[in-house]
Amino acid sequence: MITVAKFGGSSLASSEQFNKVKNIIEKDKKRRIVVVSAPGKRFKQDSKVTDLLYLLWSHVKYGVDASNIIADIKERYLEIKNALNLSVDVEREFEIIMQNVKNGAGEEYLVSRGEFLCAKLMASYLGFAFVDSAELVKFNYDGVLNEDQTIEAIKSKFEEVGAMVVPGFYGAYPSGEIKLFSRGGSDVSGSIMAMSISAEKYENWTDVSGVLVADPRIVDNPCRIEEVTYDELRELSYMGASVLHEESVFPVRELNIPIYILNTNKPDEKGTKICAKATANDRFVTGIAGKKNFSVFNVTKSVNSDKLSVISDVLQEFKRFGVKVEHIHTSVDTFSIIVNSKDVDKNVFDLLSELKHVQGVVSVDVDNDLALVAVVGRNMVLKPGISAKIFSIFGKNNINVKTISQGTKEINIIVGVQNADFEKAIRAVYSEVVE
Ligand code: ASP
Repeated sequence: MITVAKFGGSSLASSEQFNKVKNIIEKDKKRRIVVVSAPGKRFKQDSKVTDLLYLLWSHVKYGVDASNIIADIKERYLEIKNALNLSVDVEREFEIIMQNVKNGAGEEYLVSRGEFLCAKLMASYLGFAFVDSAELVKFNYDGVLNEDQTIEAIKSKFEEVGAMVVPGFYGAYPSGEIKLFSRGGSDVSGSIMAMSISAEKYENWTDVSGVLVADPRIVDNPCRIEEVTYDELRELSYMGASVLHEESVFPVRELNIPIYILNTNKPDEKGTKICAKATANDRFVTGIAGKKNFSVFNVTKSVNSDKLSVISDVLQEFKRFGVKVEHIHTSVDTFSIIVNSKDVDKNVFDLLSELKHVQGVVSVDVDNDLALVAVVGRNMVLKPGISAKIFSIFGKNNINVKTISQGTKEINIIVGVQNADFEKAIRAVYSEVVE
């Protein structure tokens, strides 16, 4: 059985980090496919190579001299090459890249070179084969992953080479032109590798020892989540917990391949396991997440209008304005629609005026400054009285609850509070149900 190990930018930021990666890979012979990001920050004020490459592109595009930026990027790779005594010809690689750009290669090609070069150095350091993702991750011209071709390419390449390092973050169209995933997309590349070879596990190595129960910027020293289900993780990520790229769960969940979030700097710490059926938790809350700055449109309909038609016509207006609806709450003659404030800040008055003209609508008003707090836990469904317990925490702490919603799967309760109460609410829930 094979393990796919993906390393994020901070795990690859310097020769010292490369060394930690090698120790991890050599510790377990099942780690035969290594996926790398581009070198990230070495310290807080440092730049990620990917950001430097975007900056480089904007200079190249407008014909502005970029020799300093090229030198900075090159230096990052030369430090690794020289300190580890590797034979990759970094100077030559840069000449080829800049020549290709001159000949018309686009932004995505240039930006993808961050992971490309990092993978070349890592392959040489580990003694694994370097395989370009352009040969493995195949997109159709409409930008959708061609799963069959991708799986076939990965499987047969892996059978051929036995151990490989692959750059994350990109693949290619049938023409060979490079296509990037969205930012943080190396997580998705790793997941696709794991799916393609039906890996035993997918390890995602980063600079934190797993997923935390709450945001450490809000709660002091929150504890780690030992196990979380794919569904719970999705709810938590959707509500603001930044763990993995959103799309990285899909490829592995069908095959039930567990993902482990692990820390390159503390490889012996246990991390978090993400899987279909988690067991190790008798707490009823797995995690708490949340986001600020939502707006609530409160709509009152006339008593004799058909509720379903009014709701559907109102939603149609949101669609027409291109505004994504996050939640809908309904009661007899009123319903509220919750959206991200930033999605309506430019056209709120136009939207309001259209809504007021919808047949059956009596009045509409908007309430801004709403924050949503999501309490997520697979065990909540098993225990009666959980919502009551959560609301009593809010009451006890003098936090006014503005909206409430609970998904039908009962793995989350979402509570709307004022922006100003957001942090207080998260701390209160954490200290009552987790500590
Ligand atoms: N290097 C890319 C980024 O910074 C992709 C990744 O790290 O996953 O977004």
